[in-house]
Amino acid sequence: MTSVAFLGLGAIGRPMAARIAAAGHTLAVWNRTTERATSFAAEHGARVASSPRDAAQGAAIVITCLPTSREVEQLLEGPDGLLAGLASGTIFLDCTSGDPATSKRIAAKLGERDVAFMDAPVSGGVVGAEQGILTVMCGGDETVLERARAVLESFGKKIVHCGPIGAGHALKAINNALLAIHVWSTAEGLAALQKAGVRPDVALDVINASSGRSNASMNLFPERVLTRAFPRTFRLALLDKDVGIAAGVAREQRVPAPVLQLTAELMTAARAALGEVADHVEMVKVVEQWAGTEIR
Ligand code: NDP
Repeated sequence: MTSVAFLGLGAIGRPMAARIAAAGHTLAVWNRTTERATSFAAEHGARVASSPRDAAQGAAIVITCLPTSREVEQLLEGPDGLLAGLASGTIFLDCTSGDPATSKRIAAKLGERDVAFMDAPVSGGVVGAEQGILTVMCGGDETVLERARAVLESFGKKIVHCGPIGAGHALKAINNALLAIHVWSTAEGLAALQKAGVRPDVALDVINASSGRSNASMNLFPERVLTRAFPRTFRLALLDKDVGIAAGVAREQRVPAPVLQLTAELMTAARAALGEVADHVEMVKVVEQWAGTEIR
């Protein structure tokens, strides 16, 4: 069993940390809003760390799951920061859906202290985290992945070495850009069909037996849009961040990617319209407003 520190008990971080505790690892948790860490510890059995530094002290593996790489980088610095508590030989796993450039900078900084960094963003959503069946996209040294595998397996089912540092973050961003494209384009299609006299449930039934299907058409639209439930599980603001990273990766690699760039702009516009707490599927409401119809 491994001594693990987990920082960032948000929508996805909390169930991931719960899986680590349930697997029997020794767990210390830190969260910016302390009450979330206290309630987690009471429910799952963990030590509440008083600071990032305190969390890192004594941990063999430190895991961060924060909104962006910026917050991860900020958490390193200062007298109570992670760097002050990390011992040589520690593994640092960043499960944030972050950006490759910042991760390379963080990895270099940690490397000076003999701390190995691996980006390890996840997909599968809150339900996947609760069930321990996330996909984990790893960027870094394969030997680090093998040393961390037992802990990753407590919340991940498909654990993939994607390439060097930053590769996991790049792949995660492109995956989420595809998610955004599917949700947005399915909304456009269903709105047009509805106005042409085709009921959305009938349209989805056909699309889901045909080549236009996606996770959006098979799961998100039937469960969240047609029901008008729009549960808040993954913030649109975070998806906007992801698609921005994906568009940046394409630009950096000089790959012409007009659909990715346009989708990044659409996500930014939808976020501005719907605000910071809206769920990603709520982007459908922007399409509906433009179309003057509701997909139900
Ligand atoms: P949430 O917004 O639910 O939680 C964010 C977490 O980060 C909270 O613990 C929050 O603390 C903490 N935090 C925010 N700002 C700071 C800061 N400046 N300093 C320290 N801590 C901070 O996000 P999610 O849990 O949904 O997402 C976390 C990461 O996982 C993101 O990169 C996201 O893209 C990714 N992800 C999310 C999925 C999902 O389904 N939700 C699926 C796959 C990946 P506090 O409690 O104080 O607000």
